[in-house]
Amino acid sequence: MSQRSIAQAPDEGGFVKEIPSKSKHFADWYTAVILKAELADYYPVHGCTVIRPYGYTIWELMQQGLDRRFKATGHTNAYFPLFIPQSFLHREAEHVEGFAPELAWVTRGGGEELAEPLAVRPTSETAIGHMYARWIRSYRDLPILINQWCNVVRWEKATRPFLRTMEFLWQEGHTAHRTPEEAETEARQMLEVYRDFAETDVAIPVLSGRKPESEKFPGAEHSYAIEALMPDGQALQAGTSHNLGQNFARAFNIKFLDSDNTEKFVSTTSWGLSWRMLGGLIMVHGDDRGLVLPPRVAPIQAVIVPILTGKARDDVLAAARAVGARLQPGIRVRVDDRTEVTPGWKFNDWEMRGVPVRIELGPRDLQAHQVTLVPRAGDGRRVVPLDGVVEAVSAALEEAQQTMFRRAKDYLDSHIVAASTREEVVAAIAARSGFVRIEWCGNDACEQTLRRESGASPRLISEEAASGRCAVCGAPARFVVYYARAY
Ligand SMILES: [Zn+2]
Repeated sequence: MSQRSIAQAPDEGGFVKEIPSKSKHFADWYTAVILKAELADYYPVHGCTVIRPYGYTIWELMQQGLDRRFKATGHTNAYFPLFIPQSFLHREAEHVEGFAPELAWVTRGGGEELAEPLAVRPTSETAIGHMYARWIRSYRDLPILINQWCNVVRWEKATRPFLRTMEFLWQEGHTAHRTPEEAETEARQMLEVYRDFAETDVAIPVLSGRKPESEKFPGAEHSYAIEALMPDGQALQAGTSHNLGQNFARAFNIKFLDSDNTEKFVSTTSWGLSWRMLGGLIMVHGDDRGLVLPPRVAPIQAVIVPILTGKARDDVLAAARAVGARLQPGIRVRVDDRTEVTPGWKFNDWEMRGVPVRIELGPRDLQAHQVTLVPRAGDGRRVVPLDGVVEAVSAALEEAQQTMFRRAKDYLDSHIVAASTREEVVAAIAARSGFVRIEWCGNDACEQTLRRESGASPRLISEEAASGRCAVCGAPARFVVYYARAY
């Protein structure tokens, strides 16, 4: 994708006439879909976007899917402040070094210089670490399993809606544990929660694994991530989970008295997933007609378009409303009873907005006690009896969810290529082949060589056992690594 972004695009008041071809003009297609489907819009502060109601509702549905999983694994929500004292950020050396270039500072307030500058939170490990040190006294206080839904700010030069913005919405989980093993288990558990959410709810298949040292979170022992593949062959890091070991516990003096009467440092984790997932959803599933939404996160799952012609129009409209009432509350449904636009116009409009199932109902359908279902993904147009409409729509939605996942999975599976030499890696990356699977000796110099020559980065170290030789130096391999260019 080129560097063009929503913030740099011409201001057309959110109005886009045509959606360009996805395969030919991917970057322009992405921006056009976002504007035309009314997911987001321009804002005069560079790097900030406005999320419009339709886009925000998708985000809310994503939040619900994640939040349910967080609660099911024992976590509760809380909220910590937006401002972080400068001194907090300096306590963990790697952390401050990693985030320093992206920080936004408040130095004045109420017309006065502040005694200590306040950072606008880029992430909350330090703020929460400070509080955990106050709250944790004994092993009985552990584990602490907290999540917060919030916004964060990271100063970015190049921005793209949902993928890279200065201010973004996300959730950040922060947990404290009695032992390092428990923290490791937690970090891996939350990675699995993210994988399940991405694949089950958003229909985006992912690779998951550990980040190499060079790519890990500043201050973490181990970072894990899920990585999805976009249609232009680039990887999208869609969620990360970190085992922070005792690094933040030592920096913030988070200690507890264990049952053996000795004082110990806790082990902590953090994990985050942002609205980047929404950007991934648009790119993975959309097509030349616009957005295609997986039913589980679609604000409107089924739209009923009555064909209002002739003298039966009142009966047709009444029947359409009756169908709508029957589908609720199990299915999120809208009856499009607008009279100022034609049914054909409505079909195009709802297709562009990605509504998973369209239900057509005309005078002849009414006479025959039937409706026509048209799924947005795939070609499963079908006529179903009015009596069985609830079951038929439910089945069509479930089928759409599965079809979308399978299609994306086929794409991912067919875009993982194995390479055993540097030349093969460079060629595969240049050809935008997707993820390039290599074996690696574990030596940093080999990684640097591959990065430099291919322009790609190591996205994940897989759990798969290595059996061959390092693609760079030929020494016996210790790891299987996936390389790709990344957003
Ligand atoms: Zn090597």
